[in-house]
Amino acid sequence: MEKKPVVSGKALGGIAFAAAILALASGGLWALLLIAGLFLAAVYIIKEEEAAQSCLNAFLLAFFGLVVTGVLDGIRELIVRIINLASRTGGGISVVNFIFYIVGVLVVVMFGLLAFSAFMNVMNGKPSGAAIVNNMSSKLLGIFIPPPVYYQQPMQPMQPPPAPPQAQSWTCSCGRQNSGPFCASCGKPMQ
Ligand SMILES: [Zn+2]
Repeated sequence: MEKKPVVSGKALGGIAFAAAILALASGGLWALLLIAGLFLAAVYIIKEEEAAQSCLNAFLLAFFGLVVTGVLDGIRELIVRIINLASRTGGGISVVNFIFYIVGVLVVVMFGLLAFSAFMNVMNGKPSGAAIVNNMSSKLLGIFIPPPVYYQQPMQPMQPPPAPPQAQSWTCSCGRQNSGPFCASCGKPMQ
């Protein structure tokens, strides 16, 4: 009977994306740590490249989602301060807060939907393929997973480049040096 790992790569990827959705919804950094742990488990314990990429995609989605919402909140605070300095009544602050609240919700929903569709892909046994971050995670994965471990590329010795074809030079019986198949003087074929 085949020995199965305690947690399958599929489950690992699914948990990672679920954690990403929770991270986006709660704005909590704890889930980032959890996903990072899942990623390390995928690489070093389960050793499934697909699961590792799923976790990395989940991490990047949660990370960028939190970064974008964090930056938006910083901009919002800056604008509120400027308004407070410029006007004594502080008029417009509620409008600014409202606009940034809506934008923040849209950002969370967008990243959340990406994480959710990736979650569904993983659950259906497909590559997670999270838009925006998938290419990035593919490149990042190469840092964590050295090619010989996963891609099973046999180490081939460096082969010297093939020597350039040398111009065959021959001397005809008539004495002429030739490079072509026939003598340029008397027309005899190469000997
Ligand atoms: Zn000749």
